[in-house]
Amino acid sequence: MSKVNLDLPTVQIRELRLGSITAYQGKASELVSRAQAGTLKDSARSFSQCMGCSSGQAFCMLSMITDAVVVNHAPIGCLGDASGFNFVYRVEQKNRGLPSAIGKYYSTNLLEKDTVFGGMQKLRDTVRTAFEREHPNAIFITTSCASGIIGDDVESVADHLSEDLGIPVISCFCEGFRSRIWTSGFDSAYHAIVRRLVKPPRKRSKKVNIINFWGSHIFDDLLSRLGYEAQYIVPFNTVKDLEYISEAVATIQICPTLGTYLGAALEQVYGVPEIKVPPAYGMAGTDIWLRELGKVLHREQEVEQLIRDGHERVLPQIEAYRKQFAGKTAYLTAGAAHGHSLIAVLRELGLDVKGAAIFHHDPVYDNGCPTSDVLAHDVETYGDVRQYNICNKQAFELVNLLNRMRPDIMIARHGGMTVWGAKLGIPTLLIGDEQFSFGYDGILHYARRIAETLDNTEFVTNLARHSTMPYTKWWLKQQPYAFLGRELHVRQY
Ligand code: SF4
Repeated sequence: MSKVNLDLPTVQIRELRLGSITAYQGKASELVSRAQAGTLKDSARSFSQCMGCSSGQAFCMLSMITDAVVVNHAPIGCLGDASGFNFVYRVEQKNRGLPSAIGKYYSTNLLEKDTVFGGMQKLRDTVRTAFEREHPNAIFITTSCASGIIGDDVESVADHLSEDLGIPVISCFCEGFRSRIWTSGFDSAYHAIVRRLVKPPRKRSKKVNIINFWGSHIFDDLLSRLGYEAQYIVPFNTVKDLEYISEAVATIQICPTLGTYLGAALEQVYGVPEIKVPPAYGMAGTDIWLRELGKVLHREQEVEQLIRDGHERVLPQIEAYRKQFAGKTAYLTAGAAHGHSLIAVLRELGLDVKGAAIFHHDPVYDNGCPTSDVLAHDVETYGDVRQYNICNKQAFELVNLLNRMRPDIMIARHGGMTVWGAKLGIPTLLIGDEQFSFGYDGILHYARRIAETLDNTEFVTNLARHSTMPYTKWWLKQQPYAFLGRELHVRQY
């Protein structure tokens, strides 16, 4: 179990804290057993096409707190994906019936001369400008490679401005170069929130924290039937909402890759118990998850009834889909724990998961609890995935492999990946909402979308006919993992 230390302004990166890796090729079962034995090793690639950045992930969580401003202390290019987050923010406001507002994002626009003379005055000026224009209830300062390399003392600027402006001005250390695991940025954002915003509980409320992105509000009905209230965190909360997430009776992870640190921090610091089993994807996973939730909320009997009702309602329909999908093969690409959850859903529907390209692997979560391991649950419940690849979005590996494997369907969780399946003429399904496939009914939601995708292949067939690949014939003849080389280190965790 990692130890949460709120005295430090930074949270340790995942490589060091959890032993997380970004490269692996082999069986899922072997990955699980090496992770459990503490002998997992990362590998180097002699060629890498792209990488994600922690700063973007931190920004993704902080940028949708409705009454806060984010100041990115960086060259302007680091905020290149801000328009994408603002787009999501606007769309999801509409879905939630919230008043339409644009995201309040500022950049200090560090220039070459600032990397010589320092950027702290620019940072002070930008924070003050943001305060005067937006009147926010908190300002987050996210850092960057440039601000980290020149050593600007962002923490002291934040502390002085907090006193001056009378609102929390909070530093969030998420420099891209610090970690190969971009999800370290989620941890940085949550560390900033728990360290500077969240207050000790006054009493226990009837709320249950749901750590999620901006997914559908599927927990409202379930929790109200159990006598509790869903509290979705962090996007679309106000600063005040977040101050007392410490009062919740439990924390649900929609995806432990996202919320591993926040779940553990709330439990360790404020005694909010985390549900420490895989999230409810697939029949077996949903049974286990509901029983654990019932135990933590003291609603065991009610949960048994929910399980009986759920089985009765969905099993006959799942059986029909299993017949429809018999003999169909699937390939999956997604972030770590949610990818594992989708493997469970696909297997439940009788699809043969030929392989998966997953963006990183956490051998253990911050709660240190082996029962939380989603991939171990998959292997134990549904059997092995023989071609399991950890590929941090290396499209060249994905294209090479898909070109050989030619599955009946490719499933993707991230928009940028779908184009590769479609260009090869492989029916490709993208679903970004993690909650869409959650629980018993989620299996059916997913099944309907898979059936639609398999039924209508004309678009991808035409696309493949008229499109070209950027990869050469030479590369497509090489082994997909030809650039995956030597092992980097062994982490003890
Ligand atoms: S923080 Fe570093 S890695 Fe991230 S976008 Fe900026 S320069 Fe790139």
